[in-house]
Amino acid sequence: MKKTKKILIANRGVIAIRALRAARELGYEVSSVYSTADKDQKHLKLSDDAICIGPASVKDSYLNEAAIISAAELGNCDAIYPGFGFLAENADFAEKCEKSGFKFVGPDVGVIASMGDKIKAKEIMQELNVPTVPGYDGEITTEEQIQDKVEKIGYPVIVKASAGGGGRGMRVVHKKDNLWDEIQSAKTEADFSFGSDKVFIEKFLLKPRHIEIQIFGDGKGNAVHLFSRDCSMQRKYQKIVEEAPAINVPIEKLEEIQKISVEACKSLKYKGAGTLEFLYEDGQFFFIEMNTRIQVEHTVTEMITGVDLVQSQLILALENEFKLNQNVLKINGHAMQCRINAENPKTFVPSPGQIKTVHRPGGYHVRFESQIYSGYKIPPDYDSLIAEIIVKDSNRERVLNKMKMALDETVIEGIDTNLDLHRRIMSDEGFRKSDHYIKYLEEKIL
Ligand code: ADP
Repeated sequence: MKKTKKILIANRGVIAIRALRAARELGYEVSSVYSTADKDQKHLKLSDDAICIGPASVKDSYLNEAAIISAAELGNCDAIYPGFGFLAENADFAEKCEKSGFKFVGPDVGVIASMGDKIKAKEIMQELNVPTVPGYDGEITTEEQIQDKVEKIGYPVIVKASAGGGGRGMRVVHKKDNLWDEIQSAKTEADFSFGSDKVFIEKFLLKPRHIEIQIFGDGKGNAVHLFSRDCSMQRKYQKIVEEAPAINVPIEKLEEIQKISVEACKSLKYKGAGTLEFLYEDGQFFFIEMNTRIQVEHTVTEMITGVDLVQSQLILALENEFKLNQNVLKINGHAMQCRINAENPKTFVPSPGQIKTVHRPGGYHVRFESQIYSGYKIPPDYDSLIAEIIVKDSNRERVLNKMKMALDETVIEGIDTNLDLHRRIMSDEGFRKSDHYIKYLEEKIL
């Protein structure tokens, strides 16, 4: 008898249970990994086996490549699902998985490596006719030299780490006097956080929206796009509310950028799920980066297209099947996601601890992606994302009402959360009219 295929979920939290469900629905077996701080997660009880990979510290557990690969061996797995964060965009890890005989559920190692280097990614995209943010990514030699370069771009500019991610380590420079010092501290920080002090400079756009295109490729030159998302409601460059499709952009502009994105992915022979992220200002799109993995906000795309992106990733990796067809993909309605974080509503400091009570929202096209349950203790060691509430309806106005209802129905007692902030966002007039941009939350709501 043929062995049932088995997947190792190399992650925790929201994406771990999401992947577990997708794998189970497809009939696969599942091994999970956990740190000692995470032994009470719900998905562990639903897995065929759960293997402890180390102590709470991420470097010793969820970033411990050898322990994860040993867990896949122990579990007799066929593939490793990285999710988002941790090792999801680590080319070295992807290579180790493949060399150890496990399918890495993601694109090829070379693509992960080049897209993980933001300077290289921008160069590749420019060659593929994707519009990028004007800037400078060459050598930084002297204070005068770089002042000269930035003068040409025009202030303000943003200094970014080439190996950066998670909205961290970016510095906005408004005038010449601070430029050199900011570059030096950006380099030190980049070296410390990302292991490379390579930085580059971009024009800092003042009121852009963050719009991204979901793509999916078969790894052989065929690819489709699954339309757009707007992720402009952010705090400190971190997304808080996401929706699909993008709003307030002329349809022909969206169609053009979708086409450019999909063509780029065909040229790259991109495999699996990926996202091209853009800033959109004054009718123009500017590429900022590509994520070579599933994203937190993939859910809103699933809601409007009816495509299960995680299942599609697993089917491609394990069965070598690519079932998506551009001519069949259609947008059906509008969808929105609120990221629920365990954090103090005023200071935004994480609020780990024991959850006393949870009441989940319900209703038609209301989705709650989470591991939490009454009595669950949120460890202090990880990201504060504890749940995603996703809703879909026929148009945006109904979505806003439905999300407000879902938020009002949700009760999480025992810890602080940002539920109230989301309620305020849903009632905000500017947001309801789609007038928001990436700094809107900080400038107009907080
Ligand atoms: P990360 O990989 O750390 O998430 P990104 O390059 O994707 O970094 O940028 C994250 C966010 O930072 C964007 O969504 C946007 O809000 C802001 N940002 C990035 N580049 C610029 C820019 N050139 N001008 C204005 N805001 C920017």
